[in-house]
Amino acid sequence: MEKDTMPLVGRFAPTPSGRMHLGNVFAALLAWLSVRSRGGELVLRMEDLDTQRTSPEFARILREDLTWLGLTWDRETPAQSTRSRIYDACFEQLAGMGLLYPCYCTRSQLHSVNAPHLSDGTYIYPGTCRDLTEAQRQSFSRKPAWRLRVPDREYALEDKCCGSFRQNLNRECGDFLVRRADGVYMYQLAVVVDDGLSGVTEVVRGRDLLESAPRQIYLQELLGFEKPQYAHVPMLLSSDGRRLSKRDRDLDLGQLRSRMKPERLIGWLAHAAGLLDKEESVSARELAKEFSWERVKKEDIFANTDCFCR
Ligand code: GLU
Repeated sequence: MEKDTMPLVGRFAPTPSGRMHLGNVFAALLAWLSVRSRGGELVLRMEDLDTQRTSPEFARILREDLTWLGLTWDRETPAQSTRSRIYDACFEQLAGMGLLYPCYCTRSQLHSVNAPHLSDGTYIYPGTCRDLTEAQRQSFSRKPAWRLRVPDREYALEDKCCGSFRQNLNRECGDFLVRRADGVYMYQLAVVVDDGLSGVTEVVRGRDLLESAPRQIYLQELLGFEKPQYAHVPMLLSSDGRRLSKRDRDLDLGQLRSRMKPERLIGWLAHAAGLLDKEESVSARELAKEFSWERVKKEDIFANTDCFCR
């Protein structure tokens, strides 16, 4: 099928590790508008690989918060914590291509590496365990994590918000982890498998994940999935330039819901995004009628949140 005639499928992929904050709602609103304004389908998936940090109760509240906001979805795919069999099969596929190797580096070893870091805090892996001999591997008593070899090649995307972005995986990222030593699969693998298997054609999420996209495009290519369209939306910053996050408790949905109607919050976010000339109450459904990516601001947004704190 030609790309233009493929059905449009977007997704919400929240991590149920706490209440949504303004930044999460901002990205979810844009994902919703982009799909609904063009009659597409929306999939919800709970990204709960890290079962220590996430919980079914947070997942329940997340669904309730999205519903309160009017950000509806058409189907929910199984949570990541239930899908290790499927990730196992993809892991085996990559192993069969000779692209995986065990990594015995400890956390402290990795942190002491004087290597440059990516903006998301991960470092460029120097390849310490890449070419260990079988005898060297046998000499470790601990269980290894597993890394994927990356090629000395650029992976590029045309992002609806960020424009062209490219990264040479070998020089700018290094071989990356796909499975932890305790057997838990990493976000990069799970997200590609899940988006691919649920037919996602458009990924809208925060700009903090832009640097993950080339790794994901590489994995899509290896596993035979179509590359979706991407929009990495601006981050909401506090007036002192900090990213709003789950730590800003006064701006999470638990607090905000008790203080205002959803239309006021949606209107405030739409104004911050550049979709409304002035701040006014509006529903997501009304906004969808006029939505266009061209109007969405491209730079990170300094958000004056004082009105929420009173
Ligand atoms: N689960 C991630 C988060 O909540 C989003 C991952 C993605 O959209 O690819 O930040």
